[in-house]
Amino acid sequence: MGMQKDTTFFVNVLNSYYNYLRKRVICKSTPSIFWIEPTNACNLICPMCPTTYASPDTKKGFISFELFKKIIDEISDFVLESKLLQGGEPLLHPQIAEMVEYMKLKGVRTEIDSNGTLLTEKLARNLIEAGLDFISFSFDGYDKETYESIRIKAVFDKTIENILVFLEAKKRLKRKNPYVRIKSIVQKDKRFSEDKKKKFMQRFGGLPVDEFDITEAFNWGNEKVAASKVYSLGKVKKIEINEKNERFYHPCQRLWTTMSILWDGTVVPCCQDFYGEYKLGNINEKSILEIWNDEPIQLLRTKNIKKEVVDLPLCSKCSIFFTPTVFSIPTYFYGFPSLLKRILGYGLYQKLNHKLSAKTKISKSP
Ligand code: SF4
Repeated sequence: MGMQKDTTFFVNVLNSYYNYLRKRVICKSTPSIFWIEPTNACNLICPMCPTTYASPDTKKGFISFELFKKIIDEISDFVLESKLLQGGEPLLHPQIAEMVEYMKLKGVRTEIDSNGTLLTEKLARNLIEAGLDFISFSFDGYDKETYESIRIKAVFDKTIENILVFLEAKKRLKRKNPYVRIKSIVQKDKRFSEDKKKKFMQRFGGLPVDEFDITEAFNWGNEKVAASKVYSLGKVKKIEINEKNERFYHPCQRLWTTMSILWDGTVVPCCQDFYGEYKLGNINEKSILEIWNDEPIQLLRTKNIKKEVVDLPLCSKCSIFFTPTVFSIPTYFYGFPSLLKRILGYGLYQKLNHKLSAKTKISKSP
């Protein structure tokens, strides 16, 4: 069954790539990668996160379990990778463990990114026992002062304690999963020195952390994020398509592979769309596969194909259009990394990914 499913995923991703290369506005493959938003609310107000700057009129809410089940029932046959995450903190949702359990029941892999501030012993156990495959704790800053200046409203010692509780539960339950990552957005300044990082990692000695990851800060194409002083993020640049770069341009691949579903059922094309600016449809009204080839996404694909992206509110600030090519064929395609992740497992995949992207080596728990 597993092998059969892997073959189906492989064929579907290849088919997506073919549809993409052929610039088909109606995509004959199914989407492979999903972000599902348990909630757009967050208990923190981090300066580098677009959620912090959502308009006061933005309605905050939690996905209903009924709607969530409908989504999983619809996508379970073809979803290759799925994340319970978009704009808010997933652990705020009171049924988050039940969601994971339902996904596993339907044979769907589950990943969560969390700030870790809301974990309790019970929630940790429930998530692990539900079969969560992957959890990434966003922990920016290796000491109290740095962390609390970035993760505003979080308390350094308390978050560490919560993560330790989670890791101890994983150890006690003798579970291989979830793969646990502790991820920091860092910058080359003394706040993130190697010495501080080492001391921070020692706190997790002997516990099953699979990876300490670092990543560079990103402005999400959001002026307010870019203007925050916590990291040097650089100004938001609008893309330009000109004689020099035009031949390197490629439409956004996500429009042929991914979908994000917001808590109220609104479907948007990518995880960059925090506020639902590109409404492709709502799954309370249409099925996911109907929305996948409905008029709004057709229009977006057409504009991307025709290089008419400079007036699109999000795409015009996105850096996705100039990916590496061989003989004018884009070599990177969303879906290929997800396939590798599935075949190799998280550990091997992450090692390979870090090698290829020339990032710092993965550090394991000391
Ligand atoms: S170009 Fe960027 S903003 Fe536009 S759909 Fe693709 S990933 Fe999203």
